[in-house]
Amino acid sequence: MTSTATDLSTATERDLITARHLINGEWLGEADTERSNPARPGEPAAFSPSGTAADVDAAITAATAAQPAWAALPAPARGAILMAAGDLLLERQAAIAEDLVREEGKTLAEAKGEVKRASDVLRFFGSLGWAATGEVLPSGLPDTTITTRREPLGVVGLITPWNFPIAIPAWKSAPALISGNAVVIKPAELTPLSATHLARALQDAGLPAGVFNVVHGKGRVVGDALARDPRIAGLSFTGSTNVGLGLQEILNARRARVQLEMGGKNGVLVLDDADPRKAAQVVAAGAFGLTGQACTATSRVYVTAGIRSAFLAALVEEAAAYTPGDGLEGAKMGAVVSRQQFEQNQAAVRTAVERGATLLHGEYDGGTDAGFLFPAAILTDVPFDDDAVTEEIFGPVVAVLEVPDYEAGLAAINDSRYGLTAGICTDSLALATDFAARAQAGVIKVNRPTAGLDLNVPFGGVKDSSTNTFREQGKSALDFFTWGKTVYTGV
Ligand code: NAD
Repeated sequence: MTSTATDLSTATERDLITARHLINGEWLGEADTERSNPARPGEPAAFSPSGTAADVDAAITAATAAQPAWAALPAPARGAILMAAGDLLLERQAAIAEDLVREEGKTLAEAKGEVKRASDVLRFFGSLGWAATGEVLPSGLPDTTITTRREPLGVVGLITPWNFPIAIPAWKSAPALISGNAVVIKPAELTPLSATHLARALQDAGLPAGVFNVVHGKGRVVGDALARDPRIAGLSFTGSTNVGLGLQEILNARRARVQLEMGGKNGVLVLDDADPRKAAQVVAAGAFGLTGQACTATSRVYVTAGIRSAFLAALVEEAAAYTPGDGLEGAKMGAVVSRQQFEQNQAAVRTAVERGATLLHGEYDGGTDAGFLFPAAILTDVPFDDDAVTEEIFGPVVAVLEVPDYEAGLAAINDSRYGLTAGICTDSLALATDFAARAQAGVIKVNRPTAGLDLNVPFGGVKDSSTNTFREQGKSALDFFTWGKTVYTGV
């Protein structure tokens, strides 16, 4: 490992897009892995080191040494550092957003919004440094008071995906840090720079060395080493269901705490009494916003017969506005993150069409010379058991299926191994209320896109979308990163 702190005043172009490990306050590692811009083939977007188990060990050792002093700092002092880091992200918003677009492919507006979200998350959790935690409760014993406390877990591991490369690291790190934990994070290989910006903001805001450590590299190497180390008291993971379930076995075997937020196959039910134009806007924003690369994206729609044709006509019009392009050049829809993901999108559409589906919008020529630009795709008449209806695609592809009535639509929404978000478009308060109660998903959206979340409220799924034990975001995010203690005090 080499110590290579970047002096920004003399940095070369390559230095500016180079991510390093952050271990014990030092920027380390040979950046031997190149990531290219998905919208500009051949243009390098980031360089990063491929970490080893030894890097993970060094990071956990640093975190273990730094954690007690960090936990001993008054919570408002910890919070002040988080809030200052949030301010720095906002100051640097434009530059960070450009890096984010280059490595992930989304639009500049989406990237700026994501950086703002990361800033807000840090400021929200920072402010909780001033909030009371615990309760004072009566005791059945004389002259005795009972209080409850939340204690930090110690050193926690975070493993994050590429699709929200700064917001997800922020929404895991901030509750971990404000609770007095030290962190070792492994960001996604495809998006090393965004997490580096978060680390730099925390460091520049005065976070003590070793409290926040970053190790880049492959999931099978770095992520696996993090999960298996007995000094990691809890692991919070966001990513695909297969990887998450594998990590759960590792953590369960050593009885360490694990939080998994995983895939989704989010459905929307559009009923006859809805406004077809508004319903189409809701579905298009959920399906094609963020290039469909959101765990909360809409990917299946069930529609009743009376609104079907008006809804589909409006949806096709909406889809036409989501022209894919280079996020830095004002595209309405950004690039697909990688060739592999692009080919997955293609295969999903091709297979559905081979099985009798109609591609109502989104013909593509299959070429990628101008980048991984995939059009907004609408499939109709898809068999209910087709992969496009049952499996997560993670691209701008939506399947629209007809159902006879509300009950059939609700049953179809619930007929899934996933349960992250679910939506309904209706003017009926009674049906919306019934849907909110009976739809099997952690987040319900009535007349709003399935994608898009507020930061101050609980988030998480059920079924194969989540461990469904601890929620992320809002104050409930603190539960995962702390353990409860009950104190009896006699006088
Ligand atoms: P992924 O599962 O391939 O990777 C996620 C992270 O896990 C990456 O950092 C990766 O390096 C790491 N990893 C991979 N294999 C590993 C292993 N064997 N051991 C330890 N770590 C390993 O997912 P992705 O492609 O980066 O992201 C897309 C997925 O994330 C989609 O399924 C999406 O639904 C999901 N996601 C879920 C949420 C949510 O909140 N539920 C949010 C965003 C994304």
